[in-house]
Amino acid sequence: MTQKYPDTERIALFTGSFDPFTVGHCDIVKRALGIFDRVIVCVGYNIDKTTAAESVQPRVEAIRRVYRQEPRVSVDSWSGLTIDYAREHGVCALLRGVRSVKDYEYERDMADVNRALGGIDTVILFAEPQYAWISSSLVRELQAHGRDTKNMLPAITD
Ligand code: ADP
Repeated sequence: MTQKYPDTERIALFTGSFDPFTVGHCDIVKRALGIFDRVIVCVGYNIDKTTAAESVQPRVEAIRRVYRQEPRVSVDSWSGLTIDYAREHGVCALLRGVRSVKDYEYERDMADVNRALGGIDTVILFAEPQYAWISSSLVRELQAHGRDTKNMLPAITD
């Protein structure tokens, strides 16, 4: 179902795998809330590929718990094209984070595609240096080896 937000809101769409959602992602959202009225965090997955739909809902719920005290953040999931979600939800810009030159090149290509096909711009925020080394894949790897990753994951507020 398409959620309706007030037409006057400036909404950013932050898509990603968020597997898991880290303090680096959280910092991008926090800073974006200083620029936009609302941020939609959207867990993207591909129906035909590796990300099974069942693995997405727990991720959505976990991110919702992080933002249950923040009414300006909505959390959703989507298996289609980002530009279609953006159009359906009145999004004015895509939001992405960049940690390195490698991220930059990928993000620039994606931004070009989304602007060419969807007519929507991407706002890039550079990672805080203290979070730039954190990635979801690192967290997964450490967890697989039984290491503590608490300092890489956002706190849940009650
Ligand atoms: P994807 O699979 O789409 O790259 P990710 O969940 O890995 O999804 O990342 C989503 C977005 O967050 C990307 O723009 C990525 O560059 C950015 N990002 C990931 N980790 C960090 C971090 N530590 N600091 C800032 N941005 C980050």
